[in-house]
Amino acid sequence: MTFKLPSLSYGYDALEPHIDARTMEIHYTKHHQGYVNNLNKAIENEKGLQEMAIEELMASLDKVPDSIRTAVRNNGGGHINHSLFWESMSANGGGEPTGYLMEKIKTDIGSFEDFKNEFKKAATGRFGSGWAWLVMDGDKLKITSTPNQDNPISDGLKPILGLDVWEHAYYLKYQNLRGDYVDAWFNVVDWKKVEERL
Ligand code: MN
Repeated sequence: MTFKLPSLSYGYDALEPHIDARTMEIHYTKHHQGYVNNLNKAIENEKGLQEMAIEELMASLDKVPDSIRTAVRNNGGGHINHSLFWESMSANGGGEPTGYLMEKIKTDIGSFEDFKNEFKKAATGRFGSGWAWLVMDGDKLKITSTPNQDNPISDGLKPILGLDVWEHAYYLKYQNLRGDYVDAWFNVVDWKKVEERL
């Protein structure tokens, strides 16, 4: 068994105008597919790794042979990160979380405005390419960011929401304005889905 591009539950234009259709199409069919292809190539002679779930693989990079560890870290990270990213967005997204997730944000981070400000700071403050995250650190919600395609799972954290801040995620529509992309993205976050991951 090898890793596969997961199917999208919405069309490329579903998140317009916040995420444009052309960016969605290239991002999903070229970038994410590329990570999947390169991950499969890296582990083509590693039966044991091929049979792992992607979460398990990324949580056990120390068990990956030295010669392919960087390729698995980068491309396995690309695969797990984008899989979570697509599922965290919806045409019916946006607004504010409700229920347990909102209570947890208030307890661990502050108001929803505090959360958005801190998350935006993590997203715009990440120099170069990377991701901003909402994670569970033990039983506490935290905001963090990672470089490249690193996933918090490799540091023992549980990601429940991630935002891709690589330029390929926003450059066609937002050019250098990463902050505008972050603001727009809040309009498509599927908070119900995020809450399910808690
Ligand atoms: Mn990406």
